[in-house]
Amino acid sequence: EAKAAGGNAIRSHTPVMDQRVTFRMSLETRLRRALQEKQFELHYQPQVDATSGKLIGAEALIRWHDGENSIRPDQFIPVAEESGLIIPIGEWVIDCAITQIAAWRECFGEIPPIAINLSPRQFWRPSVSRHIIEHMQAAGLPSSALEVEITESVLLDADGGSVEELMQLRAAGIAIALDDFGTGYSSLSYLQRLPISTLKIDRSFINNLVLDDGSSGSEPLVRAIIAMAKSLSLSIVAEGVETQPQHRQLRTLGCDIIQGYLISRPLAATEFADKFLVDRSTPG
Ligand code: C2E
Ligand code: MG
Ligand code: MG
Ligand code: MG
Repeated sequence: EAKAAGGNAIRSHTPVMDQRVTFRMSLETRLRRALQEKQFELHYQPQVDATSGKLIGAEALIRWHDGENSIRPDQFIPVAEESGLIIPIGEWVIDCAITQIAAWRECFGEIPPIAINLSPRQFWRPSVSRHIIEHMQAAGLPSSALEVEITESVLLDADGGSVEELMQLRAAGIAIALDDFGTGYSSLSYLQRLPISTLKIDRSFINNLVLDDGSSGSEPLVRAIIAMAKSLSLSIVAEGVETQPQHRQLRTLGCDIIQGYLISRPLAATEFADKFLVDRSTPG
């Protein structure tokens, strides 16, 4: 009886599991091929001073076009993380960004820092910071040329190893930004313990910052996050700024830096350089 029931239970789950496994397998296989066939690209989204509009930095975001389709990072990064492919993909991101930064500095002289995103899983290997630092040195870049973005989940995963990696990056002079701030679950005490230099307020808060009906939405929270960041001497970036009213409100609240479609979508490297780097070297 029990055996039969168990058998039924398994059978009734099988089609769903099959689908999920097949989907993952195929994406995993395609990701492996994408690495070999160099189907990835980095796009760059500017971060600007909320008051002057001056370029303060940019975030590198991975793009994957497999010849037919564009697959969004939200879809393939989780699969890359589960399968471990995030290690070689992450290394590709680090190397590509560093090569690009070096090329831009060759052309335009000093440029604002470029940030890369690091997955928690990349910190499982005790060498990610060394990899980054050595590549920067080999490319002749100062530590101020690169930043890293991590999420709070890095800290939840930690057995202390990732904290040590972060400390090494910071000791080398590489700034660390906490991404998607306000959406995680961990205690705030890490803000004092960890070598973080920037908080990035999650897009969901910016999205609800200015509501049509005049109600306050997420404004009290955003105000509090900014006050906290200031009292800890952290810089603050608002992500996902899409409208003028959001921009105005953020400026009023004292947010330093904004990033979002209002300023620009993430752009291919040449487009980013044409729009945001060339301007800097031309007078006026
Ligand atoms: P994230 O690091 O929080 O990146 C910000 C995301 O918001 C990007 O999505 C960006 O295109 C999008 N965004 C920027 N401004 C706006 C806006 O005004 N409105 C809206 N609706 N969206 C905006 P994207 O490029 O699809 O990346 C999604 C996530 O995938 C990233 O979130 C990050 O967690 C991950 N990711 C992207 N590139 C990499 C990478 O190279 N390595 C790793 N480990 N993760 C990456
Ligand atoms: Mg990010
Ligand atoms: Mg984010
Ligand atoms: Mg995110």
